[in-house]
Amino acid sequence: MVNSIFGQTGTSIFESMSRLATETGAINLGQGFPEGFEPAPLIEAAVQALRDGPHQYPPMMGLPALRRAVAENAKRFLDLDVDWQSEVLVTSGATEALADTFFALLDQGDEVIVFEPVYDAYATLIRRAGAKVVPVRLTPPHWELPREALVKAITARTRLIVVNTPMNPIGKIFDPEELSFLADLAIAHDLIIVADEVYEHLVFDYRPFHSLFGVDAIRDRVVRIGSAGKSFSVTGWKVGYVTSSAGLLQPIARAHQYVTFTTPPALQAAVAVGLTLPDDYFSDLRRTLGARRDLLVRGLRDAGFDVADVPATYFAVADIGPLDPDGDDLAFCRRLTLEAGVTPVPVSSFYGDRDVKSHVRFCFAKTEETILTAIERLRQWREKEGWRAAS
Ligand code: PMP
Ligand code: GLN
Repeated sequence: MVNSIFGQTGTSIFESMSRLATETGAINLGQGFPEGFEPAPLIEAAVQALRDGPHQYPPMMGLPALRRAVAENAKRFLDLDVDWQSEVLVTSGATEALADTFFALLDQGDEVIVFEPVYDAYATLIRRAGAKVVPVRLTPPHWELPREALVKAITARTRLIVVNTPMNPIGKIFDPEELSFLADLAIAHDLIIVADEVYEHLVFDYRPFHSLFGVDAIRDRVVRIGSAGKSFSVTGWKVGYVTSSAGLLQPIARAHQYVTFTTPPALQAAVAVGLTLPDDYFSDLRRTLGARRDLLVRGLRDAGFDVADVPATYFAVADIGPLDPDGDDLAFCRRLTLEAGVTPVPVSSFYGDRDVKSHVRFCFAKTEETILTAIERLRQWREKEGWRAAS
């Protein structure tokens, strides 16, 4: 009666922890969504577009203005040369872009390598596309690319490697050496790389971000995915974009035309305005988010959490080993919600086997007030618990 893949999956951890936070009145630092960062010109552009119309199906590939803006933004920030007409597709969020890509490029029995900890949508969509998920693990504290394990994981059936850079939940930015190692593998084994780069603009401390699409030798082997939800702090809008060579984009567009066909035109028009905002918008976003990161990381450390440095994304990951004698990150997140009134998400949800239960993830893309209140709650909870701050 029920499809075996979706029949096996439960409710996503982001949804279930958000529900728990709402039910209990806890501060929700679980699901990754920002609070109060939406740029006014983007919202005004959406309002205007809704007033003006049109309200009917836009072109299947996306509004020309948005596709041009995607290419322009990639040139401006990453020096990528993209032909907006043949190399850009607009989708309903990065999630749809991922689904379209897997449905278009995979066949029964193909294998796809993903790096754990990994965003939860990949595995289910890959399986639904008929392929097998082959996880390769990055391990704390340095989360380096495990080159040997990666090479070993490649077989004659491997078709794709999915690379999320900057990486949810750990904030890792793949460096040029790692990208060139991946590129060599893609060429040697005739693979395609799906580059989920939704956090491309959320990189802190003037660190550089390099897109896989910018590695010349594999330009025609990379499907680059972006999300307006992240770049403009409007996660509910679900506007995403795919950039790839025309040869790869055509089958992906064919999948797109049977998954959603198009994306709301007013939101596309507004995102086109967003992508063409002056450099200041993007640098201010990085600076403000970077400051919120500092606030949360400092507060968590003061409250006795062992938090790693965060180069990018919305997320700080804490090793709860010393705080969680039960070794169960999900139970720990529930406990923190009920007892402290602060909700993180368990990092075990980012592992297929759910067996790494030592870390939890907090989202810092919030107002200063939200972060300070959350920290105060955690501090009081720790005092009550009598835990000593990690030295
Ligand atoms: N990829 C990653 C790594 C993400 O964290 C998210 C978070 N939502 C997505 C894709 C999905 O993006 P969207 O909301 O645009 O579908
Ligand atoms: N990407 C978001 C996160 O990691 C969640 C998206 C979702 O809720 N599906 O928190």
